[in-house]
Amino acid sequence: MINISRAHGIMFHHFCDDRHPRGQGAISADELAAMIRFLGQDRILSAQEWMRRALENTLQPDDLCFTFDDGLRCQYEIARPVLEDFGIKAFWFVYSSILEGSLERMEIYRYFRTTHFADVDDFYAAFFDAVITIKHSQRLRDPHARFDPRTYLENVAFYSENDRHFRFVRDEVLGPAAYQWIMDSMIERMGLELKELAADLWMDAAALRDLHATNHVIGLHSHTHPTRIVRMTDAEQTREYTDNHSILTRVIGCPPLSMSHPCNSYNSATLEVLRRLGIRLGFRANLTYEERSELEWPREDHSNVMRALEEKAA
Ligand SMILES: [Zn+2]
Repeated sequence: MINISRAHGIMFHHFCDDRHPRGQGAISADELAAMIRFLGQDRILSAQEWMRRALENTLQPDDLCFTFDDGLRCQYEIARPVLEDFGIKAFWFVYSSILEGSLERMEIYRYFRTTHFADVDDFYAAFFDAVITIKHSQRLRDPHARFDPRTYLENVAFYSENDRHFRFVRDEVLGPAAYQWIMDSMIERMGLELKELAADLWMDAAALRDLHATNHVIGLHSHTHPTRIVRMTDAEQTREYTDNHSILTRVIGCPPLSMSHPCNSYNSATLEVLRRLGIRLGFRANLTYEERSELEWPREDHSNVMRALEEKAA
């Protein structure tokens, strides 16, 4: 166990410009630059320096680092030049199935929702319509589940009622198989293909090699990005991280030493396989300062930093 420190990472996902659409939570290059000035450029350590101090247990309470999850191309094209302007080197946590040509639907569906509907409520309306016409009732997880907007996901304050209703139908009524069937058929009915929607979503091996060659740090984020890795067996978890480890090692030419937990999901079996793979540093997806291991460093979501910045500006 390490000392309780307030040092933490900042967690980034989506960025937008003329080519990459402004989906929920996406920020522009200018917004990232404003955020760096707001946080204080000097507090933001390079990833390698953060790792060194973390291993030596010499991180100071104000120390920060930047982390980019999911291997997204918009991060490389939009955030990376801003980091360069400020001389910041970051962690990039990459799930590796995308490097083998696999199409991870979570990201494709998000892109579809953002680019083919006027707004998210317009998408929800089309989605609920598609659910009503579903003929495959045997695929439903629980056709009789009852939605209560007051109690479902009540701990996430910023969800709208529609956000809650969508997540309820997706996770409680449909389950993964029926949800995928509905989304894929919506995409097909609009004359689109998963492959073309995915064309600009992820970095390729060349981009990762470029980051690695310029002193950014590439780390693990599982192979297929399961949303609940703790529901997998120990053997499946081992597979997720050994595949991720061997593919990234091949791409950048040396074994990664850091990682972040997809959807903040992990248990003792996860930590064990990571240690076996030689991972020295890991990040959670939220800010908790309770006593923790070297594989559970806290991170603040960038949206919370953005909100603090806007409050200050107001
Ligand atoms: Zn992720």
